[in-house]
Amino acid sequence: MSTNNRVKAINTIAANSTSHSPVIAPAKTDFYGEDVFNTAVMRQYLPKSAAEKLLATINDKTPFDSELAADVAHGMKQWALDRGVTHFTHWFQPLTGATAEKHDSFLDPEGDKAIMSFSGKNLIVGEPDASSFPSGGLRCTFEARGYTAWDPTSPAFIKRHGSGATLCIPTAFCSYTGEALDKKTPLLRSMQVVSSAVKRMLKCFDQEEANVNITLGAEQEYFLIDKNFYLHRPDLLQTGRTVFGATPPKHQQLDDHYFGAIKMRVLNFMAEVETELWKLGIPAKTRHNEVAPAQFEFAPMFEDVNLAVDHNMLAMEVLRQVADRHGLVCLMHEKPFAGINGSGKHNNWSVCCGNTNLLDPGSDPHQNAIFLTTLCAIIQAIDTHGDLLRSTVANIGNDHRLGANEAPPAIISIFLGEQLTDVIEQIEKGGATSSRQAGHMRIGVDTLPPLPRDATDRNRTSPFAFTGNKFEFRAPGSSQSCAGPNTVLNTIIGEALDSICEKLEKCTAKNFNAELQKILRGIIKKHKRIIFNGDNYAAEWREEAAKRGLPNAASTPEAIKAITAAKNIALFEKYNVLTKKELYSRYEVFLEEYEGKVRIEGEIALEIARSMILPAVTEEYKQTVSALTEAKAAEISAGTKGLTKKAEVTGKGLDKLVAKTSELASALDNSPEKIIPAMYSLRQIVDELELVTADKNWPLPKYREMLFVY
Ligand code: ADP
Ligand code: MG
Repeated sequence: MSTNNRVKAINTIAANSTSHSPVIAPAKTDFYGEDVFNTAVMRQYLPKSAAEKLLATINDKTPFDSELAADVAHGMKQWALDRGVTHFTHWFQPLTGATAEKHDSFLDPEGDKAIMSFSGKNLIVGEPDASSFPSGGLRCTFEARGYTAWDPTSPAFIKRHGSGATLCIPTAFCSYTGEALDKKTPLLRSMQVVSSAVKRMLKCFDQEEANVNITLGAEQEYFLIDKNFYLHRPDLLQTGRTVFGATPPKHQQLDDHYFGAIKMRVLNFMAEVETELWKLGIPAKTRHNEVAPAQFEFAPMFEDVNLAVDHNMLAMEVLRQVADRHGLVCLMHEKPFAGINGSGKHNNWSVCCGNTNLLDPGSDPHQNAIFLTTLCAIIQAIDTHGDLLRSTVANIGNDHRLGANEAPPAIISIFLGEQLTDVIEQIEKGGATSSRQAGHMRIGVDTLPPLPRDATDRNRTSPFAFTGNKFEFRAPGSSQSCAGPNTVLNTIIGEALDSICEKLEKCTAKNFNAELQKILRGIIKKHKRIIFNGDNYAAEWREEAAKRGLPNAASTPEAIKAITAAKNIALFEKYNVLTKKELYSRYEVFLEEYEGKVRIEGEIALEIARSMILPAVTEEYKQTVSALTEAKAAEISAGTKGLTKKAEVTGKGLDKLVAKTSELASALDNSPEKIIPAMYSLRQIVDELELVTADKNWPLPKYREMLFVY
């Protein structure tokens, strides 16, 4: 066999490695936000009244006056032209989970003259042909129109490429009849739900109404591998993950990668990513090596949830593009490599009122009562709708990750930490007797003791952990949009707050404290099963959770059933976040996507097994058998025993490989439940063969190369 692809890939990487020298340039920050239509730019390019109105919409969420759209469009165009932009696009987030765009130029020629125009209507609505986006039956093909509608709360930005630039306008995407076809629309609706519930609660506490902001900080994990390897892995190319590959002797067991010194080539990549993100006004803040080899994390500063979701979608795109410029590939799949950690996206959620974070346990009793009310609402919400929250992180990649000793299990529970759990237990007991026992806390604006200011104990195994001043939902997959999880969090927390307010609003000033105590105690009694501070990875937790009656949906098809559960439809319809029709359409889309992807994985595994692995093992077999034949012809007996054994091992492997390949082929005529185990047993024999086949005969780049060779 001539030099194979793997060896060629390594040689290419080695030859280029000298180019990865450090770049030394003075630190600059003046480009931060230069490609965003931000506050400063609005003030510069818009008439004063339009700028003020637009800023009020962004900051205070007041409706935007569409009569001013023409002014905004004109200013935006002028700014874009000044920055070398020729095209514009409505940028939206269909149910595929990716972002979508359709570019139009500003060009509107008059005779021989190129006039650049962009109207208010161009800004506010778009009509992309929507027939090829998944809609789960919402949009009949004869009515293929879809509408994109400007989201003025997420600023327009400029995307650059080699020879041009495009103005991107964040938009919501819906059908002709107004049904949501995207991830942004329900998120925006859910933000209203939780904001009004929070305001309602604050009113109960006689607190003046201020701006309520839901904040999100999304930590993003990813893998980086050299592109030369990637191009020789049809499975990575087609599915984003490796369907074959033996675990290398050294992977993550020495814990030497996490927070380790970042390799120069990777650091150069990260620095360029940050420059690009800063230009887009995305506040990239933290970067480090993750647990698995070749795995990394980036985290921005938290922002308003709608903007943070958009920024995360954009950041994923920037990561991919910059990787490509560096001869690397950024893998955002939840489990690109079996046997080592997969990648998630930690969704840090909190709620801010004016300048106060309501999840910050404060030092004054009034603030503490609000904190504990918010906390109890969250406990109630997560326990009541854990199934729904679980459904938002369901996808084919996360099925490999959740519960695999690296990520929280598919059982949703809350970690509060010892100190806060103690407070919760005191509330539960405190109301139990009318006598006030020593050490028991009564909630009351005047009697509440200070809460621990910094709940420092941490638990990395919990899916939903309180981390001092926010909740960190750790189950989302690295490739997923944060829109789904936050739509659900906002809605269910809004609902729980509303149910508390209904009771509080009936209180008099005199019995308020006692009633509040009773309400919170009732919530804790009813919902405390959702609190678990132990090791969520342990097998015992699974048993314990089952005893507590907590749902454990292990796979995507099981998990997404929650989307159409009666109680969840009722919830979403009550709050106008999603209609029954929209929910069913989402269920259909997600199920179809899952089944389609299982089939693609199965087919690529089959093709690789037949067209790459089988020939390689046949070659191995042939070489052994001819050596044996030659030895026998030359009447040499030494070595024939070893060769015979080797030929038998390879021959048996070959037989098994062919058998498992046929099994997968027939499973592919069947449902996903049949395809997955067939792929798994084919993988077992292929991975065994990898370890005994001559290195030069093996056609696929190996884990020990992809994860370590830069
Ligand atoms: P760790 O990995 O230790 O949890 P990181 O610094 O990597 O911490 O990430 C924490 C994330 O939480 C950051 O994105 C940060 O901006 C975000 N965060 C901090 N405070 C809040 C808050 N009040 N609301 C939402 N996100 C927050
Ligand atoms: Mg982090």
